[in-house]
Amino acid sequence: MTWKHGKKWVYSITYDEGCALLLEHALPIHRKYGVPGHVALVASQIGVPRNVPGSSYDHMMILSKTQIHSLVQEGWGVSCHSMTHAGVNLNNAEYEVVQARRVLEETLEMPVTMFCVPGDNNGHPAAYKYAAVAGYKSILTIYDEVNTKDADPLCLGRVPLHTEFPPPFFSAFDPYKRIHQAMDVGGWIVDYCHCPMPDKPIHPHKDCTTKELEERFATIKRIGGDEVWLAEPSEVVEFLLTERAKSAEQKTAR
Ligand SMILES: [Zn+2]
Repeated sequence: MTWKHGKKWVYSITYDEGCALLLEHALPIHRKYGVPGHVALVASQIGVPRNVPGSSYDHMMILSKTQIHSLVQEGWGVSCHSMTHAGVNLNNAEYEVVQARRVLEETLEMPVTMFCVPGDNNGHPAAYKYAAVAGYKSILTIYDEVNTKDADPLCLGRVPLHTEFPPPFFSAFDPYKRIHQAMDVGGWIVDYCHCPMPDKPIHPHKDCTTKELEERFATIKRIGGDEVWLAEPSEVVEFLLTERAKSAEQKTAR
């Protein structure tokens, strides 16, 4: 069982909210290590300061359509992070999940087939229920786990790449997080971060520093060598769905 290009395991990374500072602080590290990135965007807030009161990232400038297009040009991907970043439930899912996709696609003038649950995993069941009607092929959660080749694309786990865990853990930053598990099970790591900054993370439980980001990429490359597929998440989902369609076809042909 191998992934695309015969690779043994997969590494991806996503940035929720899509802060414009990613261009300054994260993009150069991506280019240096050849890792494609991915931004999860609040559909109603493209190219404007973030308007989510109470968020650690409130007021931060969000990438514009032009900036997003140039990232996509160099292999980055996008997902829809709801319409307003409100917690998704059965009462607002039509707006936050279904209409949000339409608004984001119209704003960016490009297809968006991945949803990213805002806030915490409590919004996942409602997002899951509305995924098909909205037209999403996959959903990113914050369940901290490695995805296997049998994973449900509508419930993808992500590994928090954060400077420190909340109390009572106070964990040290771990550049090796889940790498050996991913190698052993032939799995797929999707790291999750917001907007890495030099010196100090914006929020130590939600982000890492640029130094830690670089340490992570260097560790992935050093340990993964030729066996790791550095991939944009939507491309991995496309690969999984194509493989499954092929094996279903083979079963019917038999
Ligand atoms: Zn968010």
